[in-house]
Amino acid sequence: MMAIQYWRNKDRYYRLIGVSCTRCGRDFFPPVYRCRKCGSEELKDKEMPKEGKIVTFTRLYETLPGFETQAPLNLAIVELKNGVKVLGQVVDTPEELLKIGAHVRAVFRRIRVDGESGQILYGYKFVVEHVDARRETG
Ligand SMILES: [Zn+2]
Repeated sequence: MMAIQYWRNKDRYYRLIGVSCTRCGRDFFPPVYRCRKCGSEELKDKEMPKEGKIVTFTRLYETLPGFETQAPLNLAIVELKNGVKVLGQVVDTPEELLKIGAHVRAVFRRIRVDGESGQILYGYKFVVEHVDARRETG
């Protein structure tokens, strides 16, 4: 069931396409059918910003089957510039740069899907921005 929904929404996950409420302007990702803020059902597709900052993160030393080579795996909750919070893997980032408040940028990487369990991994991952570390992105 999850897998079917995933494939149907694959493009959305891959491109970080969420929705925006036409009444109050709140953005949502993943997409919702009814605005959680004002209750409106008039929502339009909107690509989420690619930049944000780490709200919290965790390092997983034991990973799912098929991901052993990626251990330890860094998982972070990232607040995008529009205030939407998403869960994502942080890659290509030295351990010392992985911290709360670090600025990150979404990148798109090949996904691994466990065919047996239908375990879903999103197409986007995050990298900490080294160069723009001092720039305030809001
Ligand atoms: Zn709304």
